[in-house]
Amino acid sequence: MKDVIIIGAGPCGLSAAIECQRQGLSSLIIEKSFIVHSIYLYPTNMQFFSTAELLEIGGVPFTSPNEKPYRHEALVYYRRAAAQHKLEIAAYEEVQTVERLTDGTFAVHTTNKRGAQQTRQAANVVIATGYFDQPNLIGIPGEELPKVTHYFGEAHPYTGMKVTVIGGSNSAVDAALELVRVGAAVDMVYRGASISENIKPWVRPIFESMVLKEKINLHLESRVTEITPDSVKVDKSGGESVWLDNDFVLALTGFRPSRALLASAGVVMDDEMDKPAFNPSTMESNIPGLYVAGVIASGRNANEVFIETGRGHGKLIADHIRTQSLLPEAR
Ligand code: FAD
Repeated sequence: MKDVIIIGAGPCGLSAAIECQRQGLSSLIIEKSFIVHSIYLYPTNMQFFSTAELLEIGGVPFTSPNEKPYRHEALVYYRRAAAQHKLEIAAYEEVQTVERLTDGTFAVHTTNKRGAQQTRQAANVVIATGYFDQPNLIGIPGEELPKVTHYFGEAHPYTGMKVTVIGGSNSAVDAALELVRVGAAVDMVYRGASISENIKPWVRPIFESMVLKEKINLHLESRVTEITPDSVKVDKSGGESVWLDNDFVLALTGFRPSRALLASAGVVMDDEMDKPAFNPSTMESNIPGLYVAGVIASGRNANEVFIETGRGHGKLIADHIRTQSLLPEAR
């Protein structure tokens, strides 16, 4: 039996495993895909808004020739950090439920890539499952059409196409700019009166100039309310509606954490904020020995935790487990 099982090999899960190891706790990470799967799913050419230093985990230096690192550098970095600390990772194994046993330990029920079911046991469990699996759906007719995606990889497949981008955050702005570069005709529809205040400052002027040059048709205070195979309906704030022709729709409306595992273990959720109950100084949930780390600890606004802030959760957890008796019956 491990002292700690960590579910999810994202930056925050990896950081938690390293901190546990530093405190002399045996740990295993169970990951349904592969190490830093979420970062792998980022747009291919994405540049972080954080500096390399603020993405570091486990004291492993992250050096980059760029002011802010790119996705491919982060993939190399986190692979190296995991290897350097010799983390034990069970990849391609999905956790289905977490069960607290009567002796206070946990049974973690999993299914591997061959469909085989397994139960692993641990004295403590850290849930670090992130949010990237669950896009914020708009909930409009046509959202399920094959021309709609919530994930943007790269612009090349959209060369010469008409594309509607929904959203006004960094992801939407980066995608719109890349699309212009491959000769796509871009409409961008956003409900706000201006694009997000958090747009990377070095990207904002380029975006604004593309809007001024009408390379990007920006529709502010507007909502897409219906998607058909060759168009979208856009409702403007004044009550007017327009139809925009398109071949593809990129709905870049963010993500929200799935609470299924937390619920399976009996973690209480705040109804209003959809946030798990936990002590912010230890990250322990209402279930003794069950912890949350990374984005899963955030409420409806998933952006309140990111790598910069969530990478510190592991230390709080490891410190707490160490100061508690490791024996579940002592809880
Ligand atoms: P994740 O990285 O999402 O990792 C969770 C892991 O859990 C995944 O590998 C997943 O496969 C696994 N998992 C899920 N369910 C199960 C299960 N049932 N069983 C087993 N494994 C499971 N943050 C910054 O600090 N700086 C930035 O510059 C930045 N840029 C970003 C750019 C983009 C485009 C996006 C989308 C996000 C960005 N973020 C940034 C946010 C950052 O990516 C997240 O905050 C971060 O990934 C959260 O880490 P995590 O370890 O909590 O979760």
